[in-house]
Amino acid sequence: MSFGYRVRHRLDTGLGRTGTIDTPHGTIETPAFIAVGTKATVKAVLPEAVRELGAQAVLANAYHLYLQPGTDIVDAAGGLSRFMNWPGPTFSDSGGFQVMSLGVGFKKVLAMEADRVSNDQVIAEGKQRMAHVDDDGVTFTSHLDGSKHRFTPEVSMRVQHELGADIMFAFDELTTLLNTRQYQEESLERTRLWAERCLRAHGQLTEQRTDKPYQALFGVLQGAQYEDLRRRAARDLATMSIDGQQFDGFGIGGALEKESLGRIVGWVCEELPEDKPRHLLGISEPEDLFAAIANGADTFDCVNPSRVARNAAIYTADGRYNVNTAANRRAFTALEEGCDCYTCTHYTRAYLHHLFKAREMLSSTLATIHNERFTVRLVDDIRHAMPGGDFDALRTEFLGRFHRGRHSGQSSVTGSQAHDSSPAGSPDR
Ligand SMILES: [Zn+2]
Repeated sequence: MSFGYRVRHRLDTGLGRTGTIDTPHGTIETPAFIAVGTKATVKAVLPEAVRELGAQAVLANAYHLYLQPGTDIVDAAGGLSRFMNWPGPTFSDSGGFQVMSLGVGFKKVLAMEADRVSNDQVIAEGKQRMAHVDDDGVTFTSHLDGSKHRFTPEVSMRVQHELGADIMFAFDELTTLLNTRQYQEESLERTRLWAERCLRAHGQLTEQRTDKPYQALFGVLQGAQYEDLRRRAARDLATMSIDGQQFDGFGIGGALEKESLGRIVGWVCEELPEDKPRHLLGISEPEDLFAAIANGADTFDCVNPSRVARNAAIYTADGRYNVNTAANRRAFTALEEGCDCYTCTHYTRAYLHHLFKAREMLSSTLATIHNERFTVRLVDDIRHAMPGGDFDALRTEFLGRFHRGRHSGQSSVTGSQAHDSSPAGSPDR
């Protein structure tokens, strides 16, 4: 087995730490931001450029690759890493998020501001639903062609073994903040039983596929905003052992309100063993990264930096702006002054403005390279600041400047926000 994690340095206060994850395809220095390549490609960017911008690993999605091209094809190609020509470590998520997103309807998928919307605005009823959850698994309708499919913990494990990513996630039920407390409890119990089935299936598949590199399995913690449920989920999964098989790490999932994100990560990390890595699913905003790292999370993924890049939204240390606006038409300066990325060292805002206006494909490539580099570099800077005791100073300085910039001068942004999910028509993360 060639998977492992070790802590290298702990923050003096709180639960934050730096560390190293070893995988069969290389090591990941943590904290680290993982680039998202949903369909076995970081959209619009060559793998060589993904490597050059500093990404240490790529996360692909089981739901999408199961539907297209089919995970048997990825398996026959020699696994995700070889199929997509990414020689480094890979993650696959379980498909649960996308499948469950189909279930909650066509409107806003996950309402992060629970007080402003009612339940029926979020959760579609009856035949509107494209997915139905029962105790055994989820039946869903493909967003591509309307065909019917069924995911169970066993199917998710088989699909993820065929993908061959170094790190996989257990199949879990996703809830929204609007589900009742009683539903959250029932769902958490269902997720616990599914976690046991995932471990069992994972053990069997690992035995059957002895010619393949070891794949690590992370259990996924749900429990929404409830401290007792979150802690219970963490304790359950941390001690779970099926036929001698335990989780190699943990994913922190589910709906998280921005203001409680750090607190929730802290609750679960207090319960989790120190010697296993923790991945927080689906975040990339600077304040969220600082809060999560301070409270013990190690790795992160999110489609947001690349998704908004394709809508001309550019991250900088002074906040986000839209390069599409008229102010950038004759701006012959870099997207971000001082940025070391390929885009900023070779092109101007005026050129990007032109590419977006002309709807040229290169606009997506160049903007994505910058936004991914921005996010990867921020987490790298945090990792480098931690051993010297400079984490708090960096947090104060970075977020102060980022938010000052956001509230002055920098124009507004189109595209999705960090916690928005996509419409059910394209369950993309
Ligand atoms: Zn740049």
